[in-house]
Amino acid sequence: MDFFDKLGKKASETYKATAEKTGKLAKETKIKLKISELKSKVSDIYEEIGKKVYEKHELGKKTVDFSKDLTDEINSLEEVTKQIVELQEELLSLKDKRRCQKCDKEIKKDDKFCPNCGEKQEDVVIEAEIVEEKPEEKKEKAEEDKKEEKAKSDLQKTVKVESAVKEPKKKDKQEEKKEEKNQDKKENKK
Ligand SMILES: [Zn+2]
Repeated sequence: MDFFDKLGKKASETYKATAEKTGKLAKETKIKLKISELKSKVSDIYEEIGKKVYEKHELGKKTVDFSKDLTDEINSLEEVTKQIVELQEELLSLKDKRRCQKCDKEIKKDDKFCPNCGEKQEDVVIEAEIVEEKPEEKKEKAEEDKKEEKAKSDLQKTVKVESAVKEPKKKDKQEEKKEEKNQDKKENKK
C-alpha cells in the first residue's frame, strides 16, 4: 500500500512538473511574440518621426519642435517601450532569472553573487516582498526617472535632427523608396 501511495505521488508530481514546464514555454512564446509585435510598432513610430522631420525640412523649417510636432509619436514610443520592458522582465522571471542589483546583467535567480561584477545578491525572497509591498512608490519613482530621461533624450534628438538636416545629401535611393512607400500609405489612408 505504502509503495503504491508513493508511486502515485511521484507520478502526479512528475506530471505537475511537466505541465508547469509546458505552461511556462507557452507563456514564454506568447510574450516573445508580443515583444516582437511591439518592436515592429517602435519601427513604425520611428518611420513616422523620420517622415515628419523630413517634411518639415522640405517646408523650409529647419528644426522640428519635439514638444509640439511629435507629441503623439513620442508618447506612443514611451508607452510601447514601457510595455516591452515589462514583458522582458516577465520573460526573465519565467526563465528563473533576474537582474544583478548592481550591473543589471542577467543572472540566475539563485546566484548568490553576480558572475559578472561579483556583487553579493540580496535574498530573492526578501526582494520579492519589497516589490510587492511598494509597487506604487516604485512606479512613481520610475516615472520620474523616465521624465528626466525623456528630457535628456529629447535634447539629444533635437541635436541629432539638426545635424541630420544639415546633411541633406544623405537622401539616397533607399530613402527615396521609403518616401514613395509613405506616399502610398498616405494615399491609402485617404
Ligand atoms: Zn553584477
